Amino acid sequence: MIVAMQDNAAEAHIQAVIERMVELGFNVHRTTGANQTILAGVGSPAHFEVAEFTVLAGVHNAYRISSPYKLAGRGFRPEGTTITFPNGVVVGGTEVTLMAGPCSVESREQILISAKIVKAAGCQFLRGGAFKPRSSPYSFQGMGLEGLKLLREVSNETGLLVITEVMEISQIELMLPYIDCFQVGARNMQNFNLLRELGHVRKPVLMKRGIAATIEEVLLSAEYILSGGNYDLMLCERGIRTFETYTRNTMDISAIPVLKKLTHLPVFGDPSHGVGIRDLVSPMALASVAAGADGLLMEMHPNPDKAMSDGAQSLYPEQLEKLVAKLRMLAPVVGRTVA
Ligand code: PEP
Ligand code: MN
Repeated sequence: MIVAMQDNAAEAHIQAVIERMVELGFNVHRTTGANQTILAGVGSPAHFEVAEFTVLAGVHNAYRISSPYKLAGRGFRPEGTTITFPNGVVVGGTEVTLMAGPCSVESREQILISAKIVKAAGCQFLRGGAFKPRSSPYSFQGMGLEGLKLLREVSNETGLLVITEVMEISQIELMLPYIDCFQVGARNMQNFNLLRELGHVRKPVLMKRGIAATIEEVLLSAEYILSGGNYDLMLCERGIRTFETYTRNTMDISAIPVLKKLTHLPVFGDPSHGVGIRDLVSPMALASVAAGADGLLMEMHPNPDKAMSDGAQSLYPEQLEKLVAKLRMLAPVVGRTVA
């Protein structure tokens, strides 16, 4: 941490800051200039808040110079994390991973048709919510356990992997036999108790960015899962809330290269929730891969006009097929492949 004192700060104030830094475990290096004193704190005390220093008497400003996330930081695994699934699918390698399917599992027929379309398009994962976080308690809440069983059944039939959302700790055990990857939704990105529990399971997790979360907050949430010992973690940009109303959310494409720089974890883009409008999904999917995404999570419904959730942002089957064909052409430009 660096603490810059105000010009001509009183010596008593400088001493008080040094004392507090030492108390926390910092090794303090002082530079006394003609007007300003700079205090450099070396070492990494487990608990300290920069904000505590910015308000001390005589302090001009304080800056953290070490990263607050140790396990999520790129430096922990400079070569990048790859995750290998039971059927040999590798996430975080050269190949871009494609996950697609409806927002929600609605019926056996709907999810079976979806799985066949997703498989034929060349995707590796089938998505579909069985537990749905809906803004209104009166909206469709998902099929629950029945939905999980259907996901497993049709995925086994088609050779796809299953990713689906977990909303609370009590669902983890229930879900384990049916799924290949837990999805943590935007609304639960800061459900720290849930994240801590997911750190103890031995099954991959894809965690989405919160609706109003900074990139640092995303990485601190990742740290909760990693610190429990679960290193099979993927992050996903899914749009954030801004003043713009034309789109449902503002897809922060820049978060993708920023995350790729800051963390070793695979980074996904979810262009469906990212913009919320079907015709904008393909350009945002292409942009995500161009920006360095390791994978995409996309909503596709066999009959979007009748979907029980997120129909407006769900691709028609032929749109998914066309998009994957474009991704295959684009991927080599950024040194990637699409199966
Ligand atoms: C979803 O994937 O259907 C979903 C609810 O996503 P998010 O958590 O990003 O809103
Ligand atoms: Mn959805």
